[in-house]
Amino acid sequence: MAFDSLSDKLQNVFKKLRSKGVLTEDDVKEAMKEVKRALLEADVNFKVVKSFVKSVSDRAVGEEVLKGLNPGHMVIKIVKEEMDKLMGSEMTEIKLRPSNEITIIMMCGLQGAGKTTTAAKLAYQFKNKGKKPLLVACDVYRPAAIKQLQVNGEKVGVPVFAMGDNNKPLDIAKAAIQHAAKNNINLVFLDTAGRLHVDEDMMNELAEIKENLDIAYTILTVDSMTGQDAVNVATTFNDKIGIDGVILTKLDGDTRGGAALSIKAVTGKPILYSGMGEKLTDLEPFYPDRMASRILG
Ligand code: GDP
Repeated sequence: MAFDSLSDKLQNVFKKLRSKGVLTEDDVKEAMKEVKRALLEADVNFKVVKSFVKSVSDRAVGEEVLKGLNPGHMVIKIVKEEMDKLMGSEMTEIKLRPSNEITIIMMCGLQGAGKTTTAAKLAYQFKNKGKKPLLVACDVYRPAAIKQLQVNGEKVGVPVFAMGDNNKPLDIAKAAIQHAAKNNINLVFLDTAGRLHVDEDMMNELAEIKENLDIAYTILTVDSMTGQDAVNVATTFNDKIGIDGVILTKLDGDTRGGAALSIKAVTGKPILYSGMGEKLTDLEPFYPDRMASRILG
């Protein structure tokens, strides 16, 4: 399960803290050293770990904590609160335009991160909320990607707009929006092309779509199993094209926690949803407080 190893290590630190009736500043320092090690081993970004441990320590060594009734408990509570904060505290909702307007969402990400699957999952969620979504196949480099989107669209009962692989992604997107306007569709998901690595052509293509169309949200899909790489990918996409949020996939696997804990703090952009499996219903809104509770065990 995700975060198992991190949770176990933090639980051990907490057990020691709880067992002490009286806590000294040195006890807190020792505990924070262990927290730091556990977070680094979980592949959390180094700067994030440093500032996290500092925030917790600054609050925990205060008089009212150490001289309080249950100091161990108080320190654990502070760790939980700071972890919430690290991930953005509040759940961030995607706000769509009024139903008589078209909201365009551009999905981007590296190949294999789960972009196509996630586009269908999201479309399905919004369809269930009464929206009229359309999935658009803008990945013209991999014919299999078009087919995959069609299969997923069919599974969730959402139409798919495709023009094969002989057109420019921007032209396909434009045609899809015209199609949407004519067919009473108010939510358009552009499934853009992924690449194995970040490359200039991919970024230019996304930038061109963004410059020419009224994109409401640019959402990046990253694979939580890739740890700090996921954070680096998010940073690059945000610097090059600007993203509004991230969807973290494969949190059902035994991911260590680095991406979940670092993305918001490093990029400033929230995690919107987490992918919890291969099925098209396996997508959950990302609640920082619930995630912190899960990590802390
Ligand atoms: P894309 O290349 O980014 O479009 O990636 P795909 O949508 O094709 O997904 C790549 C693989 O990851 C597929 O086998 C998906 O079923 C799988 N996948 C996507 N999201 C999740 C998830 O949240 N959990 C798990 N376990 N698998 C996922």
